[in-house]
Amino acid sequence: MVDQARITSGFSAGPVRRHPGPDPYADAADGVDILGPGDLREHFPYITDKAVGAVHVRRAGWFSAQQLGAWMVDQAKGHGAELVSAEVTDIHVESGRVVGVSLSNGASIGTDTVIAATGPLSRPVASMAGVDLPLYSELHLKVAFKDHLGAIPKEAPMIIWSDPQQIDWSDEEREELGRMGREDVLGEMPIYCHGRPEGGAESPYFLALWEYHHETLEPTWPLPDDPLYPEVVMRGLTTMVPGLAPYLEGLPESTVDGGYYTKTRENLPLIGPCGPEGFHVVAGLSGFGVMVAAGAGDLLASHVTGRSLPNYAESFLLSRYDDSRYMAEIQALEDSGQL
Ligand SMILES: Cc1cc2nc3c(=O)[nH]c(=O)nc-3n(C[C@H](O)[C@H](O)[C@H](O)COP(=O)(O)OP(=O)(O)OC[C@H]3O[C@@H](n4cnc5c(N)ncnc54)[C@H](O)[C@@H]3O)c2cc1C
Repeated sequence: MVDQARITSGFSAGPVRRHPGPDPYADAADGVDILGPGDLREHFPYITDKAVGAVHVRRAGWFSAQQLGAWMVDQAKGHGAELVSAEVTDIHVESGRVVGVSLSNGASIGTDTVIAATGPLSRPVASMAGVDLPLYSELHLKVAFKDHLGAIPKEAPMIIWSDPQQIDWSDEEREELGRMGREDVLGEMPIYCHGRPEGGAESPYFLALWEYHHETLEPTWPLPDDPLYPEVVMRGLTTMVPGLAPYLEGLPESTVDGGYYTKTRENLPLIGPCGPEGFHVVAGLSGFGVMVAAGAGDLLASHVTGRSLPNYAESFLLSRYDDSRYMAEIQALEDSGQL
């Protein structure tokens, strides 16, 4: 489903180590190259000359999640699925097994199989079946800038700045931000400010993300607002692409949206049966749900149909939390390693 072959690259102003000996991937279109300053200047001249190295991921790309979803729905319908657009308001359980669901349109459906694949709302939906899922959600915003100056070429890969950085607010701005209680943008900012061109050859848009909120919250819609987001992200990006600096005098047209990363403690999804017989979940897809959607669906289908299971199936079950050694291991994790 990758419709355009692109490259994902991480740039760093910190020290970089070259491969010892010949680069095993030098000729491979699907490998990873480590680039030095010369390669960077030659192939990515818009990246700051402060960058001393880059990890150049060759086998990477992007595609439209909406189109993937629409294609999957078409495939399912072609195999006899019927789509009912309504909210599940209750899950009925009798004698330890699911027997049906109630819908917001007043209808109910009798069934012996219910799958909660309800994203950030998986926890409340699973609770309708008496199951407590250990999930939490983080707000992740993204901003689309209209790069009318063409500071970043359309053929640019996704670019990711992998050093911490400090935003160079003026003294006046610092004071004002302090008064606004925005300490989150005053100190050392996290790594992974990133972005990529968006749309076809004629599109002027550049899509950018930088998760600096580090907030766990109950999902609500419309999404909580951060009026500073476009400016903070533009400042972060300018560290990597100095040609964006004119936008600091006047931000380009921009649109902010986003959603939630719904995660488990160790950032591994929950896929398979749990709770009453016939009840299943596909949840905790965090920031990788588009990439893993097909595999997660395939694994869940094996559970539901009784097909033989792959050897990794157990790793995704809710029952993994019954293992006290596993629990001790994941409690010791510092963070989930998510972009
Ligand atoms: C800013 C941002 C960037 C991201 N970037 C990437 C990326 O680059 N690559 C990647 O792989 N992933 C990315 N993700 C993550 C990805 O979007 C999610 O992991 C994925 O959408 C989760 O899929 P899901 O089907 O579990 O949940 P969702 O996509 O949220 O779908 C859940 C569905 O359940 C429905 N629902 C909820 N409650 C009920 C109910 N009671 N009854 C009926 N229906 C209900 C909802 O309406 C919704 O349609 C990103 C996420 C964000 C927020």
